[in-house]
Amino acid sequence: MEELHSETQKAEPEPSPKIIGLTGGIGSGKTTVAHFIEEFGFPVYYSDDRAKAIVNESEDLKIKIKELLGEGAYDANGLYDRKYVAEKVFTDKDLLHELNEIIHPAVKIDFENWLMKQTKYLVFKETALLFELKLNKQCYKSLLVTAEDNIRTKRVMDRDGKTYREVESIMEKQMPEKDKIKLADCLIYNNTNLEDLKEQTERVIFSIE
Ligand code: ATP
Repeated sequence: MEELHSETQKAEPEPSPKIIGLTGGIGSGKTTVAHFIEEFGFPVYYSDDRAKAIVNESEDLKIKIKELLGEGAYDANGLYDRKYVAEKVFTDKDLLHELNEIIHPAVKIDFENWLMKQTKYLVFKETALLFELKLNKQCYKSLLVTAEDNIRTKRVMDRDGKTYREVESIMEKQMPEKDKIKLADCLIYNNTNLEDLKEQTERVIFSIE
């Protein structure tokens, strides 16, 4: 009887949260949507921000990056020298690939550690290269924020003070919107104002089953 009692008391293991991959091209509004998602009470993991932070946080990563790119990859204060690294890998695709082979697994582990601490049934993972790196395959669903190219360009010019040509050259290197739209499970069209964007975000996230 005692044994039966303790059996019935055993807590069911918590189901792991469903991971929604949130993505969008430059200036699409994915960060704005991510902030709305947090306002609606769901946690967001910012992959690109975490990747930038991890290169300074992990001693293991620092050693590997210095081995690959030289001591100059970190400045006199021990901080990742983004300009040095960019110059090194800009014209060397293999080197860039090797650098990513170091950074991406570290972000994966960082995400898994973050995920273990989450208690909501849905979590969001903001990643610019979700489809390019096929990370959507590791997600329950993908959510794409998209907008017309000219609208995205204008927003980035206003936000970053970049020229039309600078934004255009970044866009040209990204996966075309039409290809991303085909791959996405859920879509948010960010062609109008922030109120509309917030409403769409609410509708989409609360309709994910
Ligand atoms: P990136 O990949 O370049 O970091 P992103 O996809 O994260 O861009 P955001 O930073 O969210 O895009 O948005 C780009 C800019 O456009 C920001 O300044 C943001 O405030 C503005 N913005 C986004 N959506 C709207 C909107 N619907 N109306 C007006 N401004 C917007």
